[in-house]
Amino acid sequence: MTDMPQQITLQEWDHRYEQLQRTGLRQPSYGGLLSRHIEDGDTRLSKLRYDNSAAALRLWNFLLTEEDRLHKARAEGKKLVGTMKDLGTIPVMAYSFDNLTAFYPDGAWWIPCVMELNTSLLSIADKLGIDESFCPVRAMLGAFLTGAHFPIPDLLVCSVGATCDDFSAIAQRLNGLGYPISWWEIPHRRTPEPDEPMVMLPGGFSAPKCQIEFVESELQRLQTAIEDLAGQRLNDKKLSEGIKKANLVRSLLGELRQLTFTAPLCPMPALEMLIAEMLAIHFCSDRNETIIVLQDLLEEVKSRVRAGAGFLSPDAARIFWVNPVADLQVMNLLEDCGGRICGTEFLFTHALDIIPQNLPPLEALAQMALADPMVGSSIDRASRICADISTFGAEALLISRIPGASHCALEGQVISEIVRDKLNIPVVEIEVPPLTDSIRPTLRTRLEALVEIVKKRREK
Ligand code: SF4
Repeated sequence: MTDMPQQITLQEWDHRYEQLQRTGLRQPSYGGLLSRHIEDGDTRLSKLRYDNSAAALRLWNFLLTEEDRLHKARAEGKKLVGTMKDLGTIPVMAYSFDNLTAFYPDGAWWIPCVMELNTSLLSIADKLGIDESFCPVRAMLGAFLTGAHFPIPDLLVCSVGATCDDFSAIAQRLNGLGYPISWWEIPHRRTPEPDEPMVMLPGGFSAPKCQIEFVESELQRLQTAIEDLAGQRLNDKKLSEGIKKANLVRSLLGELRQLTFTAPLCPMPALEMLIAEMLAIHFCSDRNETIIVLQDLLEEVKSRVRAGAGFLSPDAARIFWVNPVADLQVMNLLEDCGGRICGTEFLFTHALDIIPQNLPPLEALAQMALADPMVGSSIDRASRICADISTFGAEALLISRIPGASHCALEGQVISEIVRDKLNIPVVEIEVPPLTDSIRPTLRTRLEALVEIVKKRREK
């Protein structure tokens, strides 16, 4: 029998931690009190509410110790690869080597939130001409220049081509500042001509075969650079093994999402689900531990579903959420307003889809890279969102705009119109900056209104 699920504060976690320890909690080396991370300056943590399970404790501690893990990997002689702007392709390749650790410098996106703007990262970006007209990923520039948030990688790779303008500009600035980048090109995914050889991609989009071949050649070029760094060759067998492990992560997440989004009572809060999904992109710098963390979470969710235990009321409004939030606290806010997450599109659905294992491995990775919802049209992205809304039975769509993000200016409108047209469900757009404290009443009103609309529609 599972403990009663509850959302608790950081302070309450201290008490809960002692309680779990008394009952024999077994922890990994990075375990410990959650509140200790406040000492690293992560002050936003004291304003969040957390799931009270041991599985959630492990998830949070895993996330919040990534920097230590990277330093440890370097001290053990491993090489570090910074994989920028591909969300789930190059890390699969890098983790196929036993002496490389890949990480995601773009994750600095969340530092202004987690440290409540108490760092100089954004002002450094400002001084470099990357001001607030860019998305919060500009914090990454400050993180490189201060060296205070992650070790500088031995190799930096970044995709270009069908990438957002924000990231292209920021990565070019970084390159110009003396952090050399190995670029690889991902073309805009286009609709195949009627008589052109084409490929159906994982996730449901299609692409001309020549585009797959092009991306495969780009990945081959990058593979050579990564092999040189590792001092090892990567054969198909090793890469296929890497793909198999990545697919294990993806299938665990697939099951976790399916169960959580469709259970009669929500068995895992939105915030923990967001963090869990993020692990698919780069494995939080430890692929094997990612698997264990997700297995624990899945076990917890299964046990809650079996026991009919969960959060919120059974009539909570079922919301599909598009785009990650710059302020993590907003995931708690949705639940305060009576909504629960039933489906997400956090810009990387392709990193959740299973990688084909019946193809030459590099071709399979090329297909995944082209399956990225962000490298095609907003119409494509909207059609995938519609399909996923239907799968999870969501009753409304919430699009959370990212301040300054070039793709957010118009795509929200395109997605809204298509979803309303096809599914006839309410859609609301909000903008979520790294700290929402000053606009919280407005956000609350908008979320409460959406929940109310959903409930009124049920009466018809
Ligand atoms: S603009 Fe959007 S896609 Fe580009 S880095 Fe920012 S959040 Fe990511």
